[in-house]
Amino acid sequence: MNLTTLVKCLAVCGILSTLCFTTISSIPTERSWEAVDSDSAIKRLAEGNARFVEGESIHPHEAFAWRSNLENEQHPWAVLLSCSDSRVPPELIFDQGFGDLFVIRVAGNIVDTDVIASIEYAVDYLDTKLVVVMGHTHCGAVTAAVDSELHEAHEPAEITSLVHRIQPAVAFIDGENREETIKRSVSNNVELSVSRLKEVGDLERALEQRSVKIIGAMYDMHTGVVSFDD
Ligand SMILES: [Zn+2]
Repeated sequence: MNLTTLVKCLAVCGILSTLCFTTISSIPTERSWEAVDSDSAIKRLAEGNARFVEGESIHPHEAFAWRSNLENEQHPWAVLLSCSDSRVPPELIFDQGFGDLFVIRVAGNIVDTDVIASIEYAVDYLDTKLVVVMGHTHCGAVTAAVDSELHEAHEPAEITSLVHRIQPAVAFIDGENREETIKRSVSNNVELSVSRLKEVGDLERALEQRSVKIIGAMYDMHTGVVSFDD
């Protein structure tokens, strides 16, 4: 090999190694899949929400290389049970990306058999340590539950069934106006869903034996701030 060929060879190798290094370094390493404990998960959510509130979201974990790593596996570090309301998207509120959150959305963040099964899947098979039930201000589902107590409603049976799941969270206090009742009922409804989840045998064992936490949270639609009950 003459000198010119050797120089060309080294140059090509240099370019290739640079390309390889660039590609490999942008792919998450094994460290990315380390189990995240419940307290660390709450911290991540709080930090992401702070970025969102400050208008400094970084929209992590959206790149092709990251998504490629998720094709055959997932390791979400928090389960979010939240309302279907279009104004309450968890990934945006917590500034998280693909593979970070295992999200179950249903109007009024209620707990039923299918919701429980989804949460159990994440806790039992994906080893997710934190479950958050997140309510939000101006929740239409809770408002419907409050109003159904105030006057007779004629809704389809399925909507009536959902409203009935929320109604135990509705309680009227003398002197309180409708808005105050709705606000308090939204909070009660989060507590109700948390309690229902903690009573599920499989999840109860996960709480006691595997350091899983189930907590409530509230999203303020005006400020963007999420406050955690824990
Ligand atoms: Zn809602």
